[in-house]
Amino acid sequence: MRRPLVVVLVVAVAFVAGGAAAWGWEARAVSQAGTASRDRVARAVVADRQDDGLAMGLAARSAGVAGSDLAGGALDALSAAIPGAQATLDASAGRVADAAVRQELSAAIAVAHAVPASAAPAVAGEVLARLTAAAAAVTAAQQEWQAARSTPTPTAHASARAAPRPATPTPVDTCRTTYNGPAFYTSVPAAEGDPTANGRLPASVMAPVSWATDSRGDGYWFVKAATASLEELDAAFLAAFGHHLDIDLAYRDYATQVAMYQALGSSVAAYPGTSHHGWGTAFDVPEWPCQYGLHTPERDWLVANGPTWHWFPDPYEYWHYDYKP
Ligand SMILES: [Zn+2]
Repeated sequence: MRRPLVVVLVVAVAFVAGGAAAWGWEARAVSQAGTASRDRVARAVVADRQDDGLAMGLAARSAGVAGSDLAGGALDALSAAIPGAQATLDASAGRVADAAVRQELSAAIAVAHAVPASAAPAVAGEVLARLTAAAAAVTAAQQEWQAARSTPTPTAHASARAAPRPATPTPVDTCRTTYNGPAFYTSVPAAEGDPTANGRLPASVMAPVSWATDSRGDGYWFVKAATASLEELDAAFLAAFGHHLDIDLAYRDYATQVAMYQALGSSVAAYPGTSHHGWGTAFDVPEWPCQYGLHTPERDWLVANGPTWHWFPDPYEYWHYDYKP
């Protein structure tokens, strides 16, 4: 039942790995191609960021830079960072005060996709640096946005009393995910399967939701009736909150449930073959206590309105909802 905040982990891992890889090759690239060459390329990339012909420009510049044996590492780091950056962008929709940071991240992702396989390490590294910085800015902006929402509004009475406040209140990040376990991902159903077997459902009896994919680009799949109901629930949620319902995990195949059971134990994970996720009738929201935790507007809304579309909150896990037609 329990599941990780995949987005956060993937972003963190991708950026740490990407940053380290970029740093490593960068040092080698400097020694090989020379600082002047690298800086020239960097300046050219910066100047060309908004250029529609970026891909061709990058390719042309790359041809003139030595170090093709290093290109693989830099390009791999960049490729590894793109899904996490995209996930950060997706997860931040409607959740930042300043739209410009998301626009910059969107642009950085587009540039990253445009980097050709022949790009020199310095070029890939510059693009990766921009991508990393843009994603970090969005993450910071989203945390600010969430923190602002979780700060209680002072009542008139409290204001009238004008009680002295501590000079330096200690901020508590109530929005941080409560999940600290290993990463598990939602499953895509196989083409062949058994519609009566938990965790072995064929894709033909299932459908993904329309508004989101996970950090690997996989859809969130449910049995078709559950998907149809969830689409209606999400439309109402969107109208109420101005952003789509966040899904963290949906369908879970048998093998994943086995792995989860082995990793997390019976107190947290359902015995393989019994999870509602294996029937394609359950979803988890991210374990963000300030947004979907107890007594949040989002959870209160889901508890009150989910049953209208046959979706019911789990009494023990605040992030888990079941479809019960
Ligand atoms: Zn669950």
